[in-house]
Amino acid sequence: MIIHLKKEISETESAAIAHELEAMQYHNGVHYILITPSATKELKSSILEKADAHWAMESDIQLASSKYRQDLREIKWGNTTIGGTTKNTPVIAGPCSIESWEQIEESAKLLVSLGINTLRAGCYKPRTSPYSFQGLGLEGLKMLAEVRNKYKLNIITEVKDSSHVNEVIEYADIIQIGAKAMYDQSILRRCGEARKPVLLKRGFGTTLQEFVQAAEFILSGGNEQVILCERGIRTFETKTRFTFDLCGAAYLKYHTNLPVILDPSHAMGYAYGVPDLAKASVAFGCDGLLIEVHPNPKIAKSDSSQQLDHSTFTQLYGELKTIASAVGRQLL
Ligand code: PEP
Ligand code: MN
Repeated sequence: MIIHLKKEISETESAAIAHELEAMQYHNGVHYILITPSATKELKSSILEKADAHWAMESDIQLASSKYRQDLREIKWGNTTIGGTTKNTPVIAGPCSIESWEQIEESAKLLVSLGINTLRAGCYKPRTSPYSFQGLGLEGLKMLAEVRNKYKLNIITEVKDSSHVNEVIEYADIIQIGAKAMYDQSILRRCGEARKPVLLKRGFGTTLQEFVQAAEFILSGGNEQVILCERGIRTFETKTRFTFDLCGAAYLKYHTNLPVILDPSHAMGYAYGVPDLAKASVAFGCDGLLIEVHPNPKIAKSDSSQQLDHSTFTQLYGELKTIASAVGRQLL
């Protein structure tokens, strides 16, 4: 159950009610919001009279549920807004990893030339092998900060484990939690305390229920700016890297109040399929796209096979604009 306490209820009073109900609580700038275990069915009158509103929820999908908020949450970073009543579809693009100043500067220049304002690049890479390139770490974050200032771009970068979560929160405009980090509750809880948008990627073996429950960790910490990202799940199929779960994305769109961004690059795993999947994603009505682009994909230090080169991406971006306007959306 979610309870919005009346504005005048003090911190001490709220804490006492939370204790009584074994609830979590946060202040949203207006009033205290309590989240009790989902099994709570009824409230006694002494608590009801201190509440403005309450919602009995059937499952642990609570704050993210479209039963709690019918409107899509509005999420903002820099001059970009998604969700709410907007029909914006920003394209977030850039290399899988930041590898050098020259590489990231070339990527930034491409985005600026197309009018795209959010650059992605990982500094802490969750690689399957310990012998693969692990990312530039803090040095990479510092380069991203420099590129942000020089090219007036917003930066999204990922947190891989809790050892560097504070650095990522400090440097990023959007904090990305990767598919492999999605289950790390210390990351989720720390991001719940942050006041910056979080892009939460679905683990590749994660059910939709588990995925949204991970989002609940962040939301219940008081961070109301969570974006979900479908990036492919593991199935029996091995010809493509993962299986792009548009059914899952449709479920999330209908049952949650969180914007959904689609990532065809990681789902497909091969550059040849990314343009078609990106077009399908825009036609689907996603709230944003994540696409990996590299100045020279062949020599990329991670995810080399799936990154688009600059000319393919430039052509695709033009085509996506046409599709977006055909479905009443605006590509950013
Ligand atoms: C990435 O965005 O480069 C990445 C590692 O993605 P995922 O967590 O979806 O594998
Ligand atoms: Mn990648």
